[in-house]
Amino acid sequence: MKINQTYATKEAAIKLYNTPLMDLMYQAATVHREFHNPNEVQMSSLISIKTGGCSEDCGYCPQSAKYNTELEVKPLMQVDEVLDLAKNAKVNGSSRVCMGAAWRNVRDNRDFDKVVEMVQGINGMGMEVCATLGMLNEQQAERLKNAGLYAYNHNLDSSKEFYKDIISTREYEERIETIGHVRKAGISVCSGGIIGMGESVEDRVGMLMTYVMMEQPPESIPINALVAVEGTPLEDQKPVPVWEMVRMIATSRILFPQSIIRLSAGRTQMSKEAQALCFFAGASSIFAGDKLLTTPNPAFNEDKELFDILGLTAKAPFQDGEQPETKFDAKVEAAKEYREKIKSASAKSSSEKSQKGLSLGKW
Ligand code: SF4
Repeated sequence: MKINQTYATKEAAIKLYNTPLMDLMYQAATVHREFHNPNEVQMSSLISIKTGGCSEDCGYCPQSAKYNTELEVKPLMQVDEVLDLAKNAKVNGSSRVCMGAAWRNVRDNRDFDKVVEMVQGINGMGMEVCATLGMLNEQQAERLKNAGLYAYNHNLDSSKEFYKDIISTREYEERIETIGHVRKAGISVCSGGIIGMGESVEDRVGMLMTYVMMEQPPESIPINALVAVEGTPLEDQKPVPVWEMVRMIATSRILFPQSIIRLSAGRTQMSKEAQALCFFAGASSIFAGDKLLTTPNPAFNEDKELFDILGLTAKAPFQDGEQPETKFDAKVEAAKEYREKIKSASAKSSSEKSQKGLSLGKW
């Protein structure tokens, strides 16, 4: 993944961010055309596989157990339910599925075995599979890679300086460490941030500079506009002006010409025209489906209308990297075998019951 060295210092990147908007958009659109098909947008679907009850205190997040947001806490979904949702997403044009679990970190337990099985199943459908499960170690990243995970999302959210104003339950360095484990396992990195949390332009650019400093910047950079949810510490934040989203997307596009820049949360607060400006400025992906984990998102049919108006097409999977191979996972196989045994034992017992009923009926 390439970095645009002309703007690879904080001063130069801030200057770029503050360029007159028409010039900035023109420059970003030029870079975008050089490295991407500007009429193609990747559609990703985000599935909240485990919702709420998270022990972290991210100030923007309604899923934190520390805030009273009236969010319904839901345990980990069943494998089949998730695979059905993924199938539906594929039918509606998504080429990538991202599974989100509100966990501080991954634990080596049955829930993780289920997630591994979900990854195997979705990879088997020929879709790019991404997961966002919190912090993970090297072995867990390796296991996900072997299941067929294409990408892992772990956002830095903002600059190192601003991070502690938003989250106190973990360190910025821990985020960077997880990204390192993902990279080491050979999984594509998805990492970005949120604007509109009260941060400065220096903080926005500071986050991008952290990516510049990495040996390899993320292949995917989601840019989210804060969706202020009642009950969270950021509930009173004003919606971020669209011009700032456009500037952030354009600056990211110019700095990381080859990465996918994702126009992520906050699209319901944007008009079609505003979203079109973001695409022009270099956004090359959106999340599709009416929910973005727990916050609202435009429905599939609204996006279809938007794509028709703008003449955009949905990008096919694996255009930027090979589909990973799904390898054998002993724990998943053991779990499947166990489920089969239970199923056939319960089928046997219900047929015995009905046989008994029949013979009793003879009396
Ligand atoms: S952003 Fe993730 S880690 Fe933070 S509170 Fe929400 S679910 Fe937990």
